Amino acid sequence: MTAAGGAPTAIFWLRRDLRLHDNAGLWHALNEHARVQPVFIFDTDILGALRSRADRRVDFIHQALRQLDAALRRHGSALRVYVGTAEEAFGRILQDFAVSAVYANEDYEPVAVARDARVQRLLAARGVAWHGSKDQVVFAQREVVKDDGQPYTVFTPYSRKWKSRLDASHLQPWPSEQHLANLAPADPADFAAPAGGGLPELAALGFEPTGLVYAPPSVPAKLLRAYQAERDFPAAAGTSQLGVHLRFGTGSIRALVQTARGLSETFLNELIWREFFQMLLWHYPQTVDKAFKPAYDAIAWRNDVSEFERWKVGTTGYPLVDAGMRELNATGFMHNRVRMVVASFLCKHLLIDWRWGEAYFAAQLLDYDQSANVGNWQWAAGCGADAAPYFRVFNPELQAGKFDRDGRYIRHWVPEWGSSAYPSPMVEHAAARQRCLDAYRKALESA
Ligand code: FAD
Repeated sequence: MTAAGGAPTAIFWLRRDLRLHDNAGLWHALNEHARVQPVFIFDTDILGALRSRADRRVDFIHQALRQLDAALRRHGSALRVYVGTAEEAFGRILQDFAVSAVYANEDYEPVAVARDARVQRLLAARGVAWHGSKDQVVFAQREVVKDDGQPYTVFTPYSRKWKSRLDASHLQPWPSEQHLANLAPADPADFAAPAGGGLPELAALGFEPTGLVYAPPSVPAKLLRAYQAERDFPAAAGTSQLGVHLRFGTGSIRALVQTARGLSETFLNELIWREFFQMLLWHYPQTVDKAFKPAYDAIAWRNDVSEFERWKVGTTGYPLVDAGMRELNATGFMHNRVRMVVASFLCKHLLIDWRWGEAYFAAQLLDYDQSANVGNWQWAAGCGADAAPYFRVFNPELQAGKFDRDGRYIRHWVPEWGSSAYPSPMVEHAAARQRCLDAYRKALESA
């Protein structure tokens, strides 16, 4: 291990940006320092909260880090990995290196903002400067606001302003990959991973492989051209599946926006929804578990535990809902159209609190992202900013007829559909709809 008395070293802390190319924070570190050590922290505060030892996100991160470490080693460097809370890890980093500065890309989730503030205080007490960069969004939280400086709460004017502000400078890559000569050279001992703070095996972290096969991000022009026509049909491979790459930064948002522009306005709008929800959660951190529209917190949810179980495993008797939940449980992914239907069904047909559904998705989704998940769940429940009106209750059968006309998606996930083994609907649509409208109306009238 490098001694704290060694050569001055800048630390680059990898978090939601697991790549060496077009990485803003890494570019700054490499341009401002002759010796930069990339580190990753397996944060035990996060790992400890995960429900399953076979967590696809941990597996994904682990595989992405293995590739990143191999790339660093090709440049004579190596990733340094710590396991512990962020503060514990920085305590050790400050012992292991003569730290001249710490660089990271900004993370806007409320828990990450609080964590970074604690780390910054710890570093400041030791006289070490912190440098944060914008990297995971094109426009950060205060960059697209109304003329009076207030945050937008409606998507369309937000997206209009977002597009009007965009120019080539916002999409300029940060070519960190051209400056890798300034990486800290690895101690030869470091090459015998996991000795010397290298990447531990999943098992050493208390996790198991999940069968996930890491596929690098790619978005063919053909997919983008067909996106608008195809994206609503779950049986078609019509969406990019880039969610996880945007979540963990294995792909660059700047490069993606650059590609999307001119090929698909609809796809670009989805990337703007992502920034809209990130912006909202940053301005309104209480919406992690409070309705954006407070009156909706008065809804008398039924919260029937056995009904929630049927929803989770996909035996509601509504084939599109069941197909979606089974896809989620089996793969960690669910098509967006189906996410909207299952979320609406939980909140409206079953009158189960959107926070229960949000938590279940948070545990299962490979592309789980707090701002998108909370924002979309609140949208589906009707209580969010710019949400679906509460009286719009998706009819899961009509949705299936429209978006899975030939039943291909449903049959794939629910092979017993149509046989006597398949359950009848657990609630009748018209009655459930009326019960929902009554409950919502009552809550809103009492507010
Ligand atoms: P594509 O259609 O190819 O879209 C490209 C990218 O745009 C996505 O990867 C994503 O980053 C962004 N995007 C697309 N739609 C949305 C949207 N509605 N809101 C925010 N960003 C969007 N998305 C997440 O990334 N993480 C979540 O935890 C998440 N939870 C959701 C929960 C519910 C109830 C619903 C209805 C939607 C949720 N979404 C979430 C949004 C959307 O379903 C996924 O982003 C999308 O299905 C991911 O597949 P894709 O990468 O193929 O998407």
